[in-house]
Amino acid sequence: MPEPSGQAAIVTGAARGIGAAIAARLIADGVRMLLADRDEGVHATATRLGGMPLVLDVAAAGAGSAMAEAALAAFGRLDILVNNAGIGGSRALADSDDALIARFLDINLAAVLRVTRDVMPHLPRPGGRIVNVSSIFGIAGHPGTTAYAVAKAGIAQFTRQLAGELAPEGITVNAVAPGVIETAMTEGHLRNAYYRRAVLDPTPLRRAGKPEEVAAVVAFLASADASYVAGQVIAVDGGWLAARHPPME
Ligand code: NAP
Repeated sequence: MPEPSGQAAIVTGAARGIGAAIAARLIADGVRMLLADRDEGVHATATRLGGMPLVLDVAAAGAGSAMAEAALAAFGRLDILVNNAGIGGSRALADSDDALIARFLDINLAAVLRVTRDVMPHLPRPGGRIVNVSSIFGIAGHPGTTAYAVAKAGIAQFTRQLAGELAPEGITVNAVAPGVIETAMTEGHLRNAYYRRAVLDPTPLRRAGKPEEVAAVVAFLASADASYVAGQVIAVDGGWLAARHPPME
């Protein structure tokens, strides 16, 4: 077991997938952890990892304050916020009704702003860390999944914007932009021949990523090692954004 660093963190969407891997990695690094998710499965994940669960919808009113209060009550401090919770599976704009557009923009973008606004007063100055989860589809255009992509582009710009607002106070704000990562969100996509051909096959590293490979970059951005990194959106995508190309025959 690592020495506890004394630090405490909130990771949203931590019941499974990338969020659970981030929670596991930060706990392994000695950080005390509040795992927040709307899925009751967060109880089992928290028990397995040795963190504290909180069942909550990050898009609900007051979610940020509720998470901050729970973390402060349990740990007496709060150093790191990881905004990971999100939904996938949106559509091309022609197939997106009002409810779909509103849902994606609210959960994947507006909720992140509200949660961060309500958590950031509790972070230490200097030393606080905020890490957001964008996507390669928030950076490069790609047909389909339009509301999702627009929300994730918003997360990238939110990261730069808030970095400028909080850096003078000694809080860093950065993001990761995952490529194709093997989680429940991409399980169905990865069985789809068009998706594999259009998105996975052109990945220069020629494979999907693991949640742990995203978690390692989040852990770096949340650590003291990243003390001079602010406003960056770091792709964890096997080279997809930089140099995607189909395999040679
Ligand atoms: P996942 O396996 O679907 O896990 C996401 C978790 O977040 C689920 O437990 C989900 O609960 C929870 N969640 C969703 N909306 C929530 C809300 N409003 N309040 C609280 N919890 C909520 O997804 P993942 O692949 O790990 O993705 C994690 C993040 O990475 C997302 O922001 C996603 O957009 C981003 N990302 C993923 C990939 C990829 O290839 N997997 C690529 C780029 C970016 P429910 O089961 O109830 O929905």
